[in-house]
Amino acid sequence: MTNWLPFELHCHTFHSDGKQSLAELASAAKDLGLCGVALTDHNTMTGLLDRDSVVANTGVEIIPGLEWTTFFGHMLTLGITEYVDWRNLSPFHIHRGIEAVHKQGGLVGIAHPFRVGSPMCTGCFWEFEVSDWKQVDYIEVWSGLFPSIRRNNIRAFDMWTDLLNKGYRIAATCGRDWHVSDPVTEPISVTYLGIREGYQDLVSAALNALRRGAVAISMGPLPMMSVRSFGGHTAELGDVVEWNMSEHAPVIQIAIDFSAREGLWNLPDQLMKMRLMSNKGELASLELSSEQPHAEYKLDAAGISWVRAELFGTFCGTHTRIGFTNAIYFEEVD
Ligand SMILES: [Zn+2]
Ligand SMILES: [Zn+2]
Repeated sequence: MTNWLPFELHCHTFHSDGKQSLAELASAAKDLGLCGVALTDHNTMTGLLDRDSVVANTGVEIIPGLEWTTFFGHMLTLGITEYVDWRNLSPFHIHRGIEAVHKQGGLVGIAHPFRVGSPMCTGCFWEFEVSDWKQVDYIEVWSGLFPSIRRNNIRAFDMWTDLLNKGYRIAATCGRDWHVSDPVTEPISVTYLGIREGYQDLVSAALNALRRGAVAISMGPLPMMSVRSFGGHTAELGDVVEWNMSEHAPVIQIAIDFSAREGLWNLPDQLMKMRLMSNKGELASLELSSEQPHAEYKLDAAGISWVRAELFGTFCGTHTRIGFTNAIYFEEVD
């Protein structure tokens, strides 16, 4: 059994350029219904010193991390225990840094790859040369408040789609790039991680979910997708479905979970569309609502390497993509 728990994976405190303490951040996260946050201050981990007491006092888990903030791009590093020196990373040597993070069992993700760079935000635009995309664990495809309507995020989303089409099984997250804990009027987006029951430690379970691609993103109700294949086996987000021609076609099951952070977002009652997207483009667009939150789609899997679900509807006065799942992958076997 997997529970989909809400996290914010990109946060700053006054240990870098944030305007909040770790305790203020965690308490604001609790008010937003989050189970955990990743602390990703710029080039420092000193904000984590009172982590244990903040976790104990708020019940909000804190994933240790750091945002490499360089002239050539910002990279989020999560789950590290020791500081990784980023200062020797030239535009062609990002892999040295990635390797050092992976050695500690951590994960790396490209932050806001298309945010306007200098002079607005030094190094915010991603310019590092990635020679092996298999080494990049995730891309922050939605950045900031009301992320679905921002043009730089649309470019990042397309970049993720291109990488999936090239065969890379890379995860996508959102990140508020949270600096100030004051309440905001614009919608926030949340990264839901698939936490398996019986876990020992929530930080490891969260990192494990991100590593598997068990990830869904939403500003409102949560879009969900799973695949039922021959023999009753069910694949969840990030899994690989092995299938062959002689078996029954895999069935994609989609759903909207209206109980996810219920009461913390507003959505007018409406018919919404769940679009099933793949390496072959759009496969189907299914209508769902709070009365009918489930649907199924029988997949002709020939030539399909990945599928994800995207939830569209009217949100904050705009017709927009409210949320999306990460991909489920398909492999034809003999
Ligand atoms: Zn940044
Ligand atoms: Zn940041």
